[in-house]
Amino acid sequence: MPLSHSRSHLLQQRAESLFPGGVNSPVRAFRSVGGEPPFLTHAEGAYLYDEDGNRYLDLFGSWGPMILGHAFPPAVEAIRQAAGRSASFGASTAAEAQLASLVHQCFPSVEKLRFVSSGTEACMSAIRLARGFTNRNFVIKFEGCYHGHSDAMLVKAGSGVVTLGIPGSAGVPPETAMHTLALPFNDLEAVRAAFAARPDEIGCVIVEPIVGNAGTIPPAPGYLEGLREITRQHGALLILDEVMTGFRVTLGGAQRLYNIQPDLTTLGKIIGGGLPCGAFGGRADIMNHLAPLGPVYQAGTLSGNPLAMAAGIATLQHLIDNEQTIYPQLDRTTADIANSVASIACERNIPLTTNQVGSMFTWFFTVNPVTDFASAATSDTAAFGRFHRAMLEHGVWLPPSQFEAAFVSTAHAPEDVAFLLNAARTALS
Ligand SMILES: *Cc1c(COP(=O)(O)O)cnc(C)c1O
Repeated sequence: MPLSHSRSHLLQQRAESLFPGGVNSPVRAFRSVGGEPPFLTHAEGAYLYDEDGNRYLDLFGSWGPMILGHAFPPAVEAIRQAAGRSASFGASTAAEAQLASLVHQCFPSVEKLRFVSSGTEACMSAIRLARGFTNRNFVIKFEGCYHGHSDAMLVKAGSGVVTLGIPGSAGVPPETAMHTLALPFNDLEAVRAAFAARPDEIGCVIVEPIVGNAGTIPPAPGYLEGLREITRQHGALLILDEVMTGFRVTLGGAQRLYNIQPDLTTLGKIIGGGLPCGAFGGRADIMNHLAPLGPVYQAGTLSGNPLAMAAGIATLQHLIDNEQTIYPQLDRTTADIANSVASIACERNIPLTTNQVGSMFTWFFTVNPVTDFASAATSDTAAFGRFHRAMLEHGVWLPPSQFEAAFVSTAHAPEDVAFLLNAARTALS
């Protein structure tokens, strides 16, 4: 019997009268996969529950933050206690330094940092700082990478921008985006050429070290090392956007996995344990250019919010204390899921390319290896949409776009993998 979605359907109709597309973030509307999004009531561990009483195995983890599964008890308790002491002060607390020390422990390159409330803010602020520090205006980003929705970054962006098939965004004056150079990912020659064409004009290169927002795309061997070398040669800063990969692919993010020392790092998602939180940080001499010490302005009413700090501390402390067991287990569970479904597709002659790094992965419906945005875009998005709908109908919630990474949490147990494989066998038939 098909799942009932009658309550969700009514809620969707009401939402559409109140929110554009019925949502507060565009990809949640399921436009690219078809069907209506279920409305959720609660979640626990690896499972989501909707208004009609349906249960789903969660493979998108709130787009990344929920690495320990939903309603992780120590985080819930920490938030509860912090809420009782007041949700916000707008003044300094000890918790900010406590979380910052944990971040520094995981990311030694982050000597000093600032907390903000989202990944968007983290990237926007890091770019402003890089421009202010170098006195150069141009920024290199890569096609399919997403660094939040600030004006200058909505050029050939990933995530919802590619999901909806729009080249950029209306409302961004060309003057605002004209200093953004968008180059193909995994192509060092393009970067060398850009620097050769504009010596002394490029302030920074910002990159998702493992692309997640065009689906999962790992860096080619030597690529990140090449970016490090070229930026250093030209006096530009290297910003690793680890909003997704930070605390995810290793405790110390992609920079630890690939042994790259960036000038600045942006963080988000896991850092707040599901509460709105982001951070940017790096070399102390660069960070000291921020107000009140330096001329680059940046601020936030809710920055370092006590509830977000509490959830972040509980999450990072657990990851740090259990690093040796958590990360190998996440990698194994994810490989198991990613490869088992890939073999089912292979048996049935369904073209599928699987990219995985740690506990993030993507099944691309294409025969081509996916190494950059152009190859990701060869995917059959209609086939992905059919797969997504069928999996949802069988109780598995995948990210609702071909161009978003799926995530596995520590709550995903072997019986959940078996459940998922059963769903996939039907969905791919
Ligand atoms: C999610 C994401 C962002 C934006 O973070 P928000 O909290 O959604 O503003 C930026 N960069 C990367 C790599 C991301 O995955």
